[in-house]
Amino acid sequence: MTDSLQITTGDGPSKGLDTISMLSSDDRLKGRPRLCSDCGLCDSALSQMMPQACVFVRNQTQSIEQRLHGRNRQPGDELRFGIHRAQYAARMRRPNPKAQWSGMITTLGARLLEQGKVEAVITTGAAPGTRFKAEPVLARTPEEVLATAGNKPCLSPNLNLIDQIRDQGIKRLAFIGTSCQVHSLRAIEAELGLERLYVIGIPCSDNVTYPDLEYFLTQISRSPKTVVHHEFMQDFSLWLRHENGKVERVNYIDFPMDKLHGIFPSACLSCFDYPNSLCDLTVGYMGAELGWQWVLVRTETGEELLELLKPDLEFSELTEGGDRSRGMPKFIARLTHPPGAKKPPFLIRRLVAYLQRKKGPKGLEFARAIIEMKLLRNLNYVRSKFARVESRVVPYHVYQALEPYAETYSQTFERPLAAGNSED
Ligand SMILES: Cc1cc2nc3c(=O)[nH]c(=O)nc-3n(C[C@H](O)[C@H](O)[C@H](O)COP(=O)(O)OP(=O)(O)OC[C@H]3O[C@@H](n4cnc5c(N)ncnc54)[C@H](O)[C@@H]3O)c2cc1C
Repeated sequence: MTDSLQITTGDGPSKGLDTISMLSSDDRLKGRPRLCSDCGLCDSALSQMMPQACVFVRNQTQSIEQRLHGRNRQPGDELRFGIHRAQYAARMRRPNPKAQWSGMITTLGARLLEQGKVEAVITTGAAPGTRFKAEPVLARTPEEVLATAGNKPCLSPNLNLIDQIRDQGIKRLAFIGTSCQVHSLRAIEAELGLERLYVIGIPCSDNVTYPDLEYFLTQISRSPKTVVHHEFMQDFSLWLRHENGKVERVNYIDFPMDKLHGIFPSACLSCFDYPNSLCDLTVGYMGAELGWQWVLVRTETGEELLELLKPDLEFSELTEGGDRSRGMPKFIARLTHPPGAKKPPFLIRRLVAYLQRKKGPKGLEFARAIIEMKLLRNLNYVRSKFARVESRVVPYHVYQALEPYAETYSQTFERPLAAGNSED
């Protein structure tokens, strides 16, 4: 079976709990900034542009938004979701069983090739012999895009393919990727000599290296080797589907955080663009009800992309419920606990999981909650581990989005939420 997950790690995360640089053991990344998500730009002939392009050297959300939209974010949901013209709950009428959700993204990539709108699509496949090891793919046929359906939930150096784009004289390109990749791509877009670029974004948070994904599965699942699909769902639990079709569910509150907190790269803990705000079209799930995908149309190009896919889609209402602001003070207080603190007792965890499902935020309110929690956690991470770079790495909208919690924040941490005087 070529498709099996080879579990090689069991002892601990690859970089050791609480080590602040990413992949310190990985020779490939020597000489890179300590905040690195391995987006692939540094593998390319444009690596000298890294200081101007990398989101972890200088976050350029504000200027890229100006270029794409002629403006910055307005108060309200744009502060959390990024600038968008429209948002929908949608899914494929005939879902692809191999896809992560219903297969909207790979169908779209394939359609762009079928209709000759692009000559190539940069997408992420699985390395031969593995199920989940991410490998960038330059797809030239619809079949090649469709073969990359499904998440490979680990860091993928997709931008290392830009040399091939230039070498093969490709002028019309679609790029599918995460927000750190999209930030770099937007920053170097003009250097690529493209006539047309479609940027399709997936929301992304807390990505990991492949060895750490293997380690994560050993810690979370009763049968890590047979996991064929997993997703962090809107019902506050992780669903893991196994080879035999059975679904294992693990409540977030039951995660062994004392064994997991070291697996997340410093870069992902310093990321402030969970919803992939600089792409043309974001396709995720977390703002939609269970079973539906959440689609944010950001640009005119994004509108064109959605039109292409519309004949295959069914739509539903975006809904919302609950009140995220009720849980946020507790969340802020928990940020003061040392990372990896022991889990609460079993019965308390059961009760918390029940209350989260029953009374927790739902739909768009769930997306707001989870995005704000990551903004808060990551702001704190940068302040505690990389304080000198705060003014370069934390974009403007973070402080505005978190303003409703400013008082709780300053009481808890005895410092203002607003940007300090970090060095530039
Ligand atoms: C690491 C990771 C974390 C995510 N977290 C969230 C989240 O918290 N909330 C949310 O709403 N959505 C999240 N997503 C997106 C979501 O899981 C689905 O990928 C998305 O909704 C598309 O589903 P689909 O069925 O349309 O995609 P499919 O048609 O199955 O296509 C999946 C696409 O994802 C791309 N892809 C797979 N792995 C990677 C990777 N490692 N890096 C870059 N691209 C990749 C492939 O190129 C493929 O084109 C995450 C995705 C990844 C990879």
